[in-house]
Amino acid sequence: MTRAYNFSAGPATLPEPVLAQAAAEMLDWRGSGMGVMEMSHRGREFDEIFARTELRLRELLAVPAEFKILFMQGGAIAENAIVPMNLSRGGVTDHVVTGLWSIKTRQEALRYGEAHIVASNAADGAANHTTLPAPATWRLSANASYVHVCSNETINGVEMHELPDLRALGCDAPLVMDCSSHIGSRPIEWTRVGLAYAGAQKNIGPSGLTLVFVREDLLGHALPFCPSAFDYAVVAANGSMYNTPPTYSIYIAGLVFEWMAAQGGVAALEQRNIEKATLLYDAIDGSAFYTNRVAREARSRMNVPFFLPDDRLYAPFLAGAEEHRLLQLKGHKSVGGLRASIYNAMPLAGVQALVTYMREFAQRHG
Ligand code: PMP
Repeated sequence: MTRAYNFSAGPATLPEPVLAQAAAEMLDWRGSGMGVMEMSHRGREFDEIFARTELRLRELLAVPAEFKILFMQGGAIAENAIVPMNLSRGGVTDHVVTGLWSIKTRQEALRYGEAHIVASNAADGAANHTTLPAPATWRLSANASYVHVCSNETINGVEMHELPDLRALGCDAPLVMDCSSHIGSRPIEWTRVGLAYAGAQKNIGPSGLTLVFVREDLLGHALPFCPSAFDYAVVAANGSMYNTPPTYSIYIAGLVFEWMAAQGGVAALEQRNIEKATLLYDAIDGSAFYTNRVAREARSRMNVPFFLPDDRLYAPFLAGAEEHRLLQLKGHKSVGGLRASIYNAMPLAGVQALVTYMREFAQRHG
């Protein structure tokens, strides 16, 4: 068996030692006589797995004590509804539009109240979301219950390298962020955040698990029709066990957290991510063949969309990549072209193999 380099945007490649350990423990978790999938979420074995997973996550991301960590389900798209049901109080919410995910978030929020677009990079032309509107230009509402951003736009390859400081902009509303596709790839400035959410299936583990980090003072304002299982206060009061949580995804996330700690933690992973992203962007910028359209200061370290000079070359590029065991490089249909997602678990060697293949392909077709 040889594993390929898998550049999928998500569900995405996982660290090989994690998969190997999960395989070894599949039938019998550490002498318990049960696999993790078969355990009660209220039993002592799963208790142990859960407690360790949460602790590791809190350590890795330096999550302050005033934040609850909730292990939920439904993914980031469900959070697009769950957040307004919990935080909007039926009033105004502010939205910064930087790509297709933040547009989707705002559309869902419209079902629960007035959802203002306070800044958008679509106005910069071509509607292809390649810049980041400077926070000083955001037209924040005086009465918004929160300001929503997507801190890494997976489809467009646009990443906020610094979180906005809303207080410095004279805004008291909490910042809410969808950090699904770069959580764990860099430290988080928690002093600027009220709530952060992330689907697990990029840097954390399998799909089915959503992480929510919520400042305690934001709990307890759910709208009356909010389902109990989605009421953050209920989930928090029950230690994420109000309903059955996605136990196996939590277990794999726990193994990923152990792997991240063994890699030197988030700061060390961030350095490696910078190295990988620099290698790939340099290969694109240094060629007359490949292009990336995102403004340099807004480029994502995780998701790198790029284009070829001729549409007829995409099919041979992808076929050749597959022969080289470089998988899932097709771009999202709304942007087109190619996209390499290079999350924590993508080794430097994978990006080196991609860049080598790109050079060969450009020489042959350039
Ligand atoms: N937000 C972002 C930033 C994403 O990358 C994704 C998934 N690609 C989503 C939301 C949607 O996630 P899900 O399908 O798990 O709800």
